[in-house]
Amino acid sequence: MIDFGRFYQQIATGPLANWLEVLPAQIAAWKRENLHGHFRNWEKAVQYLPLLTPQTCDLVHSVSAESEGLSDRQRAGIEKLLRTLMPWRKGPYSLYGTDIDTEWRSDWKWDRVLPHISPLAGRTVLDVGCGSGYHMWRMIGAGARLVVGIDPMQLFLCQFEAVRKLLGDDRRAHLLPLGIEQLPALQAFDTVFSMGVLYHRRSPLDHLYQLKNQLVNDGELVLETLVIEGDENAVLVPGERYAQMRNVYFIPSAAALKSWLEKCGFVDVRIADHALTSVEEQRRTSWMTSESLAEFLDPNDSSKTVEGYPAPLRAVLIARKP
Ligand code: SAH
Repeated sequence: MIDFGRFYQQIATGPLANWLEVLPAQIAAWKRENLHGHFRNWEKAVQYLPLLTPQTCDLVHSVSAESEGLSDRQRAGIEKLLRTLMPWRKGPYSLYGTDIDTEWRSDWKWDRVLPHISPLAGRTVLDVGCGSGYHMWRMIGAGARLVVGIDPMQLFLCQFEAVRKLLGDDRRAHLLPLGIEQLPALQAFDTVFSMGVLYHRRSPLDHLYQLKNQLVNDGELVLETLVIEGDENAVLVPGERYAQMRNVYFIPSAAALKSWLEKCGFVDVRIADHALTSVEEQRRTSWMTSESLAEFLDPNDSSKTVEGYPAPLRAVLIARKP
């Protein structure tokens, strides 16, 4: 069973210690009541992976690990176990000769975000909706002291634990299978990331307050989400689906999002980046074999989704909690 006890020990004496009043009970309840039907199989794949200490490991330009001296058979075994954890959406990873070509080029998003944020060196970081944890490793690569990711999807927890094991059981990053709404107001993180989550929240201003409640005073929020073109009153509330996704609620303009952040009490709000999502950035691969962006866009007009909405445009906003 994936062991959270070492994380509890790690935070017992620092600024996250208050979390221990609720976290162990929440995780225990999750284990009792909430396990996905495939969870045991995914967990077995993690268990069967070898615990390797990489001879070379790069978290600065990529997430990759390599050791000479592994046999072809060992390498093939690693790839086979990693494939049992498909679909892999966020990456890419390069692990002992296995290149996990994920649905998303999450490294491209990181390249758009990193130049605009306060240096992560020495910081305690929360990544809300972290997926498989790709960006968490890049945060460690950028010098973060401790990175905590939360994501309710259990497959992503197992993917994260698989990568962690192959990176030599690195304990600087931890993923908890929780939603943001389950976190108490910790007010303990120097930087909080929410990337690709806001449009999935039914109540976006509550989401911004929840993020603010996790930050120390003077802490930095890094918010990345779908936006539309338009002024500060422009917001799209799609019908049943947006780009085939059922769970999309609010897509504001970047200007509207800036005003929402200010309304929630954030200061120094900046729109740092705007980017259209390309079919090179989000696509079907041998590690994620179902439909992807190319099928979600109008075949005759790629500026629109199949539903006729503007095609996915994403913005990065940076804000400070006073
Ligand atoms: N941050 C990553 C992944 C974005 S996908 C990136 O930018 O590439 C959005 C993620 O948010 C999914 O993995 C989903 O499981 C997660 N998520 C959905 N609801 C959430 C909630 N209430 N709290 C935290 N994460 C949530």
